[in-house]
Amino acid sequence: MKPELLKNKIIEWGHELGFDGVGFTDIDLKEDETHLLNWLENKFHGEMHYMEKHGVKRSQPDKLMPGTVRVISFRMNYLQDNTYDSKKVLENKNLAYISRYALGKDYHSEMRDRLHTIAKKINQEVDGFKYRAFVDSAPVLEKAIGQKSGLGWIGKNTLLINKKNGSYFFLGEIYTNIDFDIDKKSKNFCGQCSECIDKCPTNAIISPHVLDAKKCIAYLTIELKGSIPNEYRDSIGNRIFGCDDCQLVCPWNRFSEETRIEEFTHKHELDSPTLISLFNWTEKEFKENTKKTPINRISYFQWLRNIAIGLGNAEKNNDVIQILKNKKNNITDPILNEHIDWAIKKQTN
Ligand code: SF4
Repeated sequence: MKPELLKNKIIEWGHELGFDGVGFTDIDLKEDETHLLNWLENKFHGEMHYMEKHGVKRSQPDKLMPGTVRVISFRMNYLQDNTYDSKKVLENKNLAYISRYALGKDYHSEMRDRLHTIAKKINQEVDGFKYRAFVDSAPVLEKAIGQKSGLGWIGKNTLLINKKNGSYFFLGEIYTNIDFDIDKKSKNFCGQCSECIDKCPTNAIISPHVLDAKKCIAYLTIELKGSIPNEYRDSIGNRIFGCDDCQLVCPWNRFSEETRIEEFTHKHELDSPTLISLFNWTEKEFKENTKKTPINRISYFQWLRNIAIGLGNAEKNNDVIQILKNKKNNITDPILNEHIDWAIKKQTN
């Protein structure tokens, strides 16, 4: 099959398999490489050492898979229509906010299986087809690739934004040796807007397109393994796993559309649970209830640490103080105890 025909077929297969956008690009990411290297040099990645580990493999696709000449970029919406209103959860100090991407089944395997299905179909059409498929699993500059492929533009909040679908979507890539025609890079439609910069709870977007991850609530509650610096604890509020504020305020998310993937349906009412109910989970319950969801990548310690901060910021209530004290009696971890002490102090002051 000729590459032009095959390209149309891939778009069709992608759509059939639940992807909401497919784009094709070359492997010239020089501009984005400069941005990445500056970002790393400024140490904005904090403890995410994997970001620096692979050198320029991230920005030079042919170093990750020799022979790569094109990248096919796929995006998949993840919002579900029956999810409890995010803003209402954030306003209710007794509820726990979990980033909307993490409510259902883990997207890595869901997307990777679909990418391999597409690759198998390509393989039936082309001799000598070589590929690798990625979903957050290797050093890939996925947002830059998505932008070059025409799937959206990188907003001032550093997320990829699609004019018709907003930014609530996952990205996946197929690196290939097939010389497809490439798509046009997306234009940037942020204009004069600066909502995400102005409303970020911890001022983590230090200038347009530059995120100091060390200040970002997603980093603090997920990536950071140790103690969460005191200066961010008030601003974290009730966000116990990630943060969507820069998406919630983005005007382009008026156009976000629901996912077609049933597996992303949320589990255990994680869209609006109370902080207390989650804090009372045993380690076994935590593991069972978050199994196969993105939440599973943090430890039970991080889970309790994050909820302790939420409880410190919750409405003042003797039951909360008692629950914190009870937990402290059963926990020997000094870092977690320090977070619990902080929460008790906030509740009693
Ligand atoms: S909130 Fe405004 S500035 Fe930020 S990403 Fe959205 S459109 Fe761009």
